[in-house]
Amino acid sequence: MAGIMATRTLHDAGYDVTVLEARDRLGGRTHTDSSLGSTVDLGAAWIHGPDGNPLTPLAEQLGVGMGYTDFLNRSGTAVQAYSHDGTPLNMAEYTRGQLLADAAVLNAKASILYQPPTNDARSLKDWVEHGLPQPATMTPDEQRGFHYWSVIRAEYNDNADWDLIDWPLSGRYVKLPGGDLLLHGGGFKVLIDHLAAGLDVRLGTAVTHITITPGQVQVQTNRGTFSASRVILTLPLGVLKSGQIQFDPPLPDAKQQAIQRIGFGNYEKLALRFDKFYWPQDKQRFNYLSEGKPSLFNAWLNTGFYTGQPIITAYHAGRRAREINRWGDGVFLEGALAVMQRLFGDKFGPIPTPQAYVRSNWQNDPLANGSYSFDQVGQRPDDRQTLAEPINQQLFFAGEATHPHFYATVHGAYETGVRAAREVIGER
Ligand SMILES: Cc1cc2nc3c(=O)[nH]c(=O)nc-3n(C[C@H](O)[C@H](O)[C@H](O)COP(=O)(O)OP(=O)(O)OC[C@H]3O[C@@H](n4cnc5c(N)ncnc54)[C@H](O)[C@@H]3O)c2cc1C
Repeated sequence: MAGIMATRTLHDAGYDVTVLEARDRLGGRTHTDSSLGSTVDLGAAWIHGPDGNPLTPLAEQLGVGMGYTDFLNRSGTAVQAYSHDGTPLNMAEYTRGQLLADAAVLNAKASILYQPPTNDARSLKDWVEHGLPQPATMTPDEQRGFHYWSVIRAEYNDNADWDLIDWPLSGRYVKLPGGDLLLHGGGFKVLIDHLAAGLDVRLGTAVTHITITPGQVQVQTNRGTFSASRVILTLPLGVLKSGQIQFDPPLPDAKQQAIQRIGFGNYEKLALRFDKFYWPQDKQRFNYLSEGKPSLFNAWLNTGFYTGQPIITAYHAGRRAREINRWGDGVFLEGALAVMQRLFGDKFGPIPTPQAYVRSNWQNDPLANGSYSFDQVGQRPDDRQTLAEPINQQLFFAGEATHPHFYATVHGAYETGVRAAREVIGER
């Protein structure tokens, strides 16, 4: 998205711009799959905060199907949670626990913003264990809701383990208002294709070396060398971390250190298509309080709630994502079906093998090397700014990880693309 938006902005301002993209498709970490007969986004799927978000009017204009996801279960009817043995939880109590956790998290983040922490608590784990005020008495199901929202849900937001997330620093992430809007019926691909229309895009062109000489930047690829007066780099942070791109001269020390300190996490999806619904069609999400370490299959989206198609998607983040990425498809499917049987088997009978499935593996994709950036313990407050700084007004940097407060999102990537283009034009 950042690369497309940088190019779009420069192209529309009359500049001659070429996009070098290693994949044979556009979109990067937005990847809309159609193999299940209905679109499923294996990368970004939600507009997180549609109010004031440039993606919302675009998706509306292009007629992309959209529907809200009530993660917190404010409505009381959107989510069903289950204990480790598959027993449905009391959702009034569970939801109260989630709301209590949400309030405690907001309070903690607000207090951190106005008053830096006086204790040593840095990670989310430290805060939940020592800093997050928990009500003195909670029922077991309230406690489960509290734990899910403060730990599991936070790990999904940050795509990282709770002991790695720098909780005070993560308070700088700004969530736009308006809830969470799931794109379906076309997905993010519709937006990307629209924004890229008419641009000079070279697919299958993998950058390997970048050389800066006075007045010129040379970009070496598997399809020859390109020269330009200015280059905007929108590589995922995971690719920059891996060291697979050679820079001559090397990137400044401060930038290299920022690249290593900013966190880059893991988040994976498995979407399953069945012949019919074997789960409650009227719920948006299922939370499973499994007990293993790491606890697996604890987040499910009823994709069919939005599309009417019998598709359900399991999510894993942080260490859970890395664990399932070690599994072959057979073991993964077996695990998913065993959990579905535990949750839904009583009401819906034996859960059959799905007709089709698709899974992501961003962690082992060398063009991503993970999912998206997060604030990692040890990161410095100005690291994202350092990452964004141009070199000699010749090499410019964009991409979600460079955004000061909308990082980890598609709209964040969008804004950094526009920002880098303006830097090239000299407007900033
Ligand atoms: C599983 C998952 C779920 C997510 N969920 C959401 C969500 O619901 N909502 C949301 O807002 N955000 C979400 N995100 C984050 C969002 O997808 C990203 O923040 C955003 O798409 C990043 O855009 P970008 O332009 O910075 O990077 P990218 O989209 O990764 O673009 C970088 C491009 O560089 C290319 N590239 C890599 N190496 C080379 C090379 N050597 N040569 C040439 N090209 C190269 C890549 O192929 C890619 O196309 C999610 C991400 C993942 C992975």
